[in-house]
Amino acid sequence: MKEGRKPEYIGTYNKNLILEILIKTGPKSRAELARISKLTKTAISEIVDELMEKNILLEVGKVETLRGRRPTKLTINPNLKVLAIDLSGLEGRAGIVNAYGRIEEDVYFPIKKEEDLFSLIDPLYEKYRDKVIAISLSVPGIIDKNTGNVILSVGLNWKNFNLKEFLKEKYKSIPISIEKDTNAGLFSELWFGEGKKFNTLFYLLLEKGIGLGIYHKGEMIEGFNSIEGEIGHTIISKGEGERCWCGNIGCLETWASIPKVREKLDKKDSMENILRDFMGKKDNEVLKVAFEYLGISLANAIHLLAPEAVCISGNREMNKEALSLLSDILKEEVNKYLFEYLRNKIYFYSSPLGNDGLLIGAGISGFINYFKGCLK
Ligand SMILES: [Zn+2]
Repeated sequence: MKEGRKPEYIGTYNKNLILEILIKTGPKSRAELARISKLTKTAISEIVDELMEKNILLEVGKVETLRGRRPTKLTINPNLKVLAIDLSGLEGRAGIVNAYGRIEEDVYFPIKKEEDLFSLIDPLYEKYRDKVIAISLSVPGIIDKNTGNVILSVGLNWKNFNLKEFLKEKYKSIPISIEKDTNAGLFSELWFGEGKKFNTLFYLLLEKGIGLGIYHKGEMIEGFNSIEGEIGHTIISKGEGERCWCGNIGCLETWASIPKVREKLDKKDSMENILRDFMGKKDNEVLKVAFEYLGISLANAIHLLAPEAVCISGNREMNKEALSLLSDILKEEVNKYLFEYLRNKIYFYSSPLGNDGLLIGAGISGFINYFKGCLK
């Protein structure tokens, strides 16, 4: 690194650190920020002044009391909103997300062709036009988040579709960013869910496909060509079963993804009832095979990286109760295949954010990208 660049780099790092503390923990006074960040009060003052000048931070709660002036809290400007989009479910979901990870309003619209994105985005975009600072998307499939190109998304039927360019044509003045769905979910879990307690974590997402977000020793893992965590394509039954869209026969996804299980079960009942029923009797062959294969695949992945915990999340069909049942069943299944040094030592839980995680993760990622742009 060139010597002259060092202070500037550290300055940006510290500004991002202060914003990260506020996003994760809510409004704080200058003294609280100094204590949590371990920066000096002078450094905090300088950073806060700049962020206030850029309209990113506001002061709240300046109250005169008998004992003097109460310390002023600093909050991220509540007028800054991200229009976040989750494209993983059976319908697309758009939401207005604030800087503290809350969804203030959301809408759904089925995405059958590219132009349907406008029908999903426009109602909220028109309503919050003067407040939306970024559009940020969580997308299933193989994504190049730097270029915004969707290399392949089977669920959306997109191949080499530059989603970012497509949206940029219409929403010219707004920064647009794209995340892979498992990483958006993992990110929200690390910042707002139970994930903040762990140094290594697997985030298992059961959607149209099955994916794994991987957090290892403080880093979100990204693989070669933006491919990682494709646990749904681990081959579990060589030469047996359906041909997967990826070309192979015997992928986990063909046995255990929610749409495949639904297709084979041919039941209209809610997933919560189906899982509750299974938990009691364990007499359903389709679910038995799906859980056995999920258990083996996940145990194999756990043997590679030994995460402290596995967080289970899913699509809109999987409400919090269904996710909690799923987590209990999976824990039992996985432990059958773990070797004794890991057996019953990994913590399994369902995401407290439920299926809001992808929208929240996309939203906060939009804020971070926006702040990076402002603080260069
Ligand atoms: Zn496959």
